[in-house]
Parts: sequence; structure tokens; C-alpha cells
Amino acid sequence: MKPEEHFDTKRSTLDEIHESFFDEHNVRLLIKRDDRIHKDVSGNKWRKLKYNVLKCLDRKNEGIITFGGAYSNHLVATSAACKELGLKSIGIIRGDELNAESNVTLKRCSDNGMNLVFVSREEYSQRNEKYYQDEVVSDHPNYWLVPEGGANYYGVLGCQEILGEIDADFDEVFVAQGTTTTSVGVALSIPMEVNLNVIPVLKGFNSIQEMKALLSLGGFESGFVEEALEDVHVNSNFHFGGYGKYNDELLSFVSNFYKNHKIKLDPIYTGKVMYGIYDAIMKGQLQDKTILFIHTGGIQGASGIEDKAGRRLYA
Ligand SMILES: *Cc1c(COP(=O)(O)O)cnc(C)c1O
Repeated sequence: MKPEEHFDTKRSTLDEIHESFFDEHNVRLLIKRDDRIHKDVSGNKWRKLKYNVLKCLDRKNEGIITFGGAYSNHLVATSAACKELGLKSIGIIRGDELNAESNVTLKRCSDNGMNLVFVSREEYSQRNEKYYQDEVVSDHPNYWLVPEGGANYYGVLGCQEILGEIDADFDEVFVAQGTTTTSVGVALSIPMEVNLNVIPVLKGFNSIQEMKALLSLGGFESGFVEEALEDVHVNSNFHFGGYGKYNDELLSFVSNFYKNHKIKLDPIYTGKVMYGIYDAIMKGQLQDKTILFIHTGGIQGASGIEDKAGRRLYA
């Protein structure tokens, strides 16, 4: 079986959801269900790993070495993908006070056979520096290095395939932003007349600058980069305080969304985006539009989250 067949993107269907207030604004909301690709390698995490995995296999490397924080969906996805494909994996993890038992995310990585290497915050801060990555590679010459969050050229390449699978017209695309890898892939593949709306989940994040930095890895000329980002609309009002931060209002939104539509969102990424979409619709900012929301997955990190009253998210 080819690697792609383990992570079948045909499972990523296009669903439509409806609320009565959509009618007042003549809005349709379509959802690209990348969360359905695989139970542990869901959403954009497979998109970003696909060409990295193929590259690793092509080079006959024995595994993938990558980076992440203690709650990283990318680490879990990498460990699970490598396990399924018979590859080894090493995770370099921020925080030398942690261990494989510190939380569910790290435990999952370890259970998937990932070799966890805990480094100090100071060392971790060098993760994107060329000299540091060169050192990591020379210590592990038979591993393919994937940057934190799958944010490299191959990651972008995989994310360029999302929109091409959609057989419907839409006017506005909405997607969450962490490293911007997914949104950059989408920006490079979006039909000319369609707008891309990105919602960064980090506070004080310079989306356009980050997207440009990633695009420059692909060696694109600056004129093209400007043009590719021309129709990108950044909505910075829905980070809910920053990465991993949320409040009870967001939790109850996610919980009600699940009750009404039987689709799980997470309060770290996709919940914030959907909250932003509902807000924009209610404010009349998406009048007469067909909206496409890319469900980037992320349920792994959301299981176990409770509100102040101790209610589970998807109860
Ligand atoms: C990792 C993750 C993102 C962030 O994607 P980037 O490509 O890093 O911008 C978005 N949504 C979910 C659910 C994620 O797990």
C-alpha cells in the first residue's frame, strides 16, 4: 500500500451546514472535512506531512525528526504517521522539565514509538536556525528533518491540494493559522476571484510577514509573493487571548456546534475560526456569499477540555 492510501483524502468530504440566521444574510456555509482523513493524523497535519513522508521514503531515511511543544498536534500526527508507515520518529520537545508521562499528547507520541528528546527552552528557541538544524541532522544523519508544525516547502506543497478536491463554487475561504503553512498552500492554489480569510490563533501575530517568510522558502520572486497575498484578509480579533487560550463563551460555542451539527471543533484552532465566521455573518459582512471553511482537524488536543463548571466539550 502506498503511503497516501493509509491517509485517504477521499474521506475529506464536503459538507454543508445551516442555521436559520444564515437565511437573513443569504449565506451558505460549506465545510471541507479534513478532520476525517485519519483518526490520529487528521486535518492539515497529514497535508503537511505527505510530501515530507514521501521525501523521507525516497531518500531511504529511517525516520523523521521534528520539533514541538508539549501540546503539539503535529508531534502526535508525526509519531502516528511514522508508526503506521514503519518509520522511526524523534521529537525534540520544548521543556527539559517534561517527560513522556507529563500529559496525554506526549504520552500518545511515546506510545506511538516516538523517541522524545526534551531540551531547554533556550535550546528550543534555536529550532528554526540553520546552524541548529544542521547540527541536529549531523547528529541524526539518517533522519529527514521536518521543522516545527511541518512548516517547510513540502508542507506547503501538500496544502496546495486541499482546494483542488472541491467540486463546488465558493466566494470566501476561512482557515486557522498557526505556522501559516496551510494558509500559504491555500493562497497558492485559490481561484482568482475567491478571497482567503485567515484567523491567527496567536496574539500579536504578523500573519502577512510570516506568510511571506514561508513563501520565500519556495524561492518565489517578490512580485509574485505580493500578488499571492493580495486577496488575503487577516482577522486578528479571534485569538481569545492567544495560543491555547479560550474562555467559556468559546467552549459553549464549540459544544453547541457539536450538539447542532455533530461536527467536533477544537477551542485552539477551528473553534476560533468558526466563531469568527458566525460573527462575520451576523454582522452582515458575508452577505450573499458562499463560505468555505477548511476543517483542519485538531480534535486530538481538545479531548479532555472542560469548562469552569466541569462540563466536557462534546458531552
Ligand atoms: C496545527 C493546526 C493548525 C495550524 O496550521 P498551520 O499550517 O500551522 O497554520 C490549524 N488547525 C488545526 C486544527 C491544527 O491542528
